[in-house]
Amino acid sequence: MQRAVVLGGSFAGLLAARALSDFADDVVIVEPDLLDEGSTGPGAPQRQQLHALLAMGHVQLERWFPGIITDLADQGARVGRGQAVQFYVDGVLRPAVDDLEMLGASRPFIESAVRQRTQRLPNVRVVAGRGQGLVIRGGRVCGVRYVPAGEEAATTLEADLVADTMGRSSRLSTWLEHAGWPVPPLERMRIDLGYATATFRRGSELPGTVIAHNSPGPKSSYQPTICEPGALAAIEDSRWSVVLAGYAAYRPSKDPQKFLARMRRCVAPLQEVAAHCELQSDVDTFHFRESQRRRFGDVSRFPGGLVVLGDAMASVNPVYGQGLTLAALQASALAAYLRSEASPQEPAWGYFHRAAGFVDAAWEVSTTADLAQPHVTGPYPAGYPILRWIGDKIILASLRDAEVNRAFMDVVHMRKPPRALTRPRVLLQAARVLMNR
Ligand SMILES: Cc1cc2nc3c(=O)[nH]c(=O)nc-3n(C[C@H](O)[C@H](O)[C@H](O)COP(=O)(O)OP(=O)(O)OC[C@H]3O[C@@H](n4cnc5c(N)ncnc54)[C@H](O)[C@@H]3O)c2cc1C
Repeated sequence: MQRAVVLGGSFAGLLAARALSDFADDVVIVEPDLLDEGSTGPGAPQRQQLHALLAMGHVQLERWFPGIITDLADQGARVGRGQAVQFYVDGVLRPAVDDLEMLGASRPFIESAVRQRTQRLPNVRVVAGRGQGLVIRGGRVCGVRYVPAGEEAATTLEADLVADTMGRSSRLSTWLEHAGWPVPPLERMRIDLGYATATFRRGSELPGTVIAHNSPGPKSSYQPTICEPGALAAIEDSRWSVVLAGYAAYRPSKDPQKFLARMRRCVAPLQEVAAHCELQSDVDTFHFRESQRRRFGDVSRFPGGLVVLGDAMASVNPVYGQGLTLAALQASALAAYLRSEASPQEPAWGYFHRAAGFVDAAWEVSTTADLAQPHVTGPYPAGYPILRWIGDKIILASLRDAEVNRAFMDVVHMRKPPRALTRPRVLLQAARVLMNR
C-alpha cells in the first residue's frame, strides 16, 4: 500500500499505525487532540482512571514494541509476577499464577511510550486534525476528509486503507449511512458503572505488591457487602493508583473522605495504603453508562479499504480491564489479515472475522458477569442460567485450586477464550474440589 490513514491517535490508533507501518509506505495518523508527554487529552477523558493491562496485553505490547516493558520498568514502572499480582474475590486471595505478568504503570505513562515509539517509525507521521468523513468511490474507501487544526475548511487525504480508531463516539456509522451503506448493528448492555481513581505517595509499605484487585463474587451475590470492589497498582513516580467502582446508586463520589472510608472496607493492601500513604490527587470520577459493540461482520455490504479497531468497534465494562488488550489483539488481527495478502481494496471481512473472535471473548466475559447485577436487565444470552451456575461454581473452585484458578485467570487475562473453561478437565477438577469441601 502507498498510504494508510488512521483516524484517532489514542491507544488503538497508535497500535493500528504500528501494525500498518509494516504494510504501507506512508502511515498518517489524524488526531485532533495531540498530547504532550503525560498529559491527558479531552479526546479520551478516561485516561486519568487506573488502567490495568491484562497479561495478554502485556505480551502484545512487547510483541509490537520489543523491549518496551524493560524500558518502562527502567523509568519507574513496576513489573509484577506471581505473588506480586494479587486477585481477590469477596476478600479471599486467589492462588498465585506463576507466569502471570502485569505492569504497574499509569495509562498516560504506557501510552506516551507507545506514542514515542510509533512516531519514531520512519513511515509514520501525525497530523493535527479532526476526521470529518470518508471519500468513497467505486465501492471502496479511497481517502478521508478532515479539518486540519486551526482551520475551518476540510481537506482530503487519499488512502489505500483507512482505519477508524476514533473511540466509542466514532461517527463512522453515520458517515456510512449518509453514503448509502448499511449501518452495522449496535449491541448494548446498560450497566451504569461509576469509577473513581486517586493517587497516593508510595513508600516502603507493601514491598511485595504491584497489583491488588478485589471483586465481589458468588458468596456476596456479586454485591459490595463482604468487601468493597477496588484495585491498586504501584505506578511510576513512587505512587499508588487506587480505583473504586460501584453500580447504579452505589457509584463512588469525588469526596476524598468517602473514598478513604471505602478503601478501609476493601482488601488489606488498600486498607494499608489508606492508613499510611498521603493522598496526592483529587478523586477523579467517571460514569460508564453502557457496554457496546458494533457488529461490522453482520452487514450485507461494506466498503473496501476500511477497518475499525478499539472502542470504535467494542467498548466493554472497564472493571474487567479488557479495552487496551482488545485494541492490541485487533492490531495483531489486522496484521494477520494483511499478511494473508488480502487486497486492501476489498471489504475486510477477513479482518472483521478475526477481530470479532476477540470481541466475542471480551463481550462474553463482561456481559455474563454484569448480568449478575440486579439492575442489569439484559439482553440475556441463550442458556444464561446454566452459564451463571457453572461460572459461579468455577469461581468458587478457583479460589481453592491452582489448576482451576489458572484456567480461570487465563480467560480473565485473555490468554484463552471463555470456552476453555468448559473443557471436561477443568469442569471435572472444579467438581472434585467442590465435593472435597
Ligand atoms: C473508566 C474507564 C476505565 C478503564 N479501565 C481500563 C483498564 O483498566 N484496562 C483496559 O485495558 N482498558 C480500560 N478502559 C478501556 C480503555 O480506556 C479503552 O478501551 C481504550 O481507551 C480504547 O482506545 P481507543 O484508542 O479505541 O479509544 P480512545 O482511547 O477513546 O481514543 C479515541 C481517540 O480518537 C480521537 N478522535 C475522536 N474523534 C475523532 C475524529 N473525528 N477524528 C480523529 N480523531 C478522533 C480522540 O481524540 C481520541 O484520541 C477503561 C475505560 C474507562 C471508561
